[in-house]
Amino acid sequence: MTDGNLAPLRYPFGEPPKEGEAVTIGHGVLWIRIPLPMALDHVNCYALDDGDGWTIVDTGFASKRSRKIWEAVLSGPLGGRPVRRVIVTHHHPDHVGLAGWFIQQGAELWMPRTGWLMARMMVLDKQSTYLEETLAFYRKSGMDPAIFENRRGERPFNYADCVAPLPLGYRRLLDSEVVQIGGRSWDVRMGHGHAPEHATFWSLDDSLVLGGDQLLPKISPNLGVYATEPEADPVGDWLTSCAHLTPFAREDHVVLPGHKLPFTGLPQRLDQMVGGIEAGLDRLLDWLSEPRVAGACFSPLYRRAIGPSEYGLALVEAVGHLNHLHQTGKVRRWPGPDGAWLWQAL
Ligand SMILES: [Zn+2]
Repeated sequence: MTDGNLAPLRYPFGEPPKEGEAVTIGHGVLWIRIPLPMALDHVNCYALDDGDGWTIVDTGFASKRSRKIWEAVLSGPLGGRPVRRVIVTHHHPDHVGLAGWFIQQGAELWMPRTGWLMARMMVLDKQSTYLEETLAFYRKSGMDPAIFENRRGERPFNYADCVAPLPLGYRRLLDSEVVQIGGRSWDVRMGHGHAPEHATFWSLDDSLVLGGDQLLPKISPNLGVYATEPEADPVGDWLTSCAHLTPFAREDHVVLPGHKLPFTGLPQRLDQMVGGIEAGLDRLLDWLSEPRVAGACFSPLYRRAIGPSEYGLALVEAVGHLNHLHQTGKVRRWPGPDGAWLWQAL
């Protein structure tokens, strides 16, 4: 699948910024990192100089620690000038978490509409126990019985645990519009799959691309299915988005991703991401020569042991791949004796 003529990935900025500091990427563009308390231990945020203040792209979780780091960044590298606008690439908590905090201090919020609706809905949806619908979804997915029993007794993760309250209104980012940020014009291009309506920004004045989690080096973004939309096909959405973005990708693009290091080699990276997913789907289809539940499909997809902290993400992504095979007519499924879907290659 990989075209030998595509340039390999390179990382022109080897060292990430230290806590509370920033690395200059280009004129008026700063790279900031906010730590995350997870295996993926950081998110990248960017500050772009609009002259009379800053635009921040993505924010980190809402936590005391993140706010303290941002305060150091605001008074240090950002020179005490105000944040006038927060742009959020997609609705996941590591990206939108502190947006409401910046808005309280006078910033505007710009987001894709679906991301905005998801964020605003989920931040208001607080649950002290798992909803029956969520448990039913886990059962159908063939969640490991011990993990299922544990979860059932726990308080569920609430989005509002790490996302600050969001205001009533925002400014919608539209696919194909041109926006001005940091002294440059940028094409807005939406991707899908990792999150519904994920914004990416492609500079018309130099070679910068703000990629969020749609354009990541080294790691593949999670393509998960949740109880909110059990028949979703995020893998199909992701592949369609890669095909949509590929014609715009250039070797000289410097991609500023949501995690890991800024990179060049975007044409090869898009090619790799598609190839990686297609290879995973092929291995999964072989594995389904016998009927299996989603919770028994980790080994062909991930080819490594999945620990308890990754189990939830691994399960929703396995369902994502199975839904794709099902909806493209490659597998059939039926409810097993314990209610879990069994999937088998056709
Ligand atoms: Zn992320």
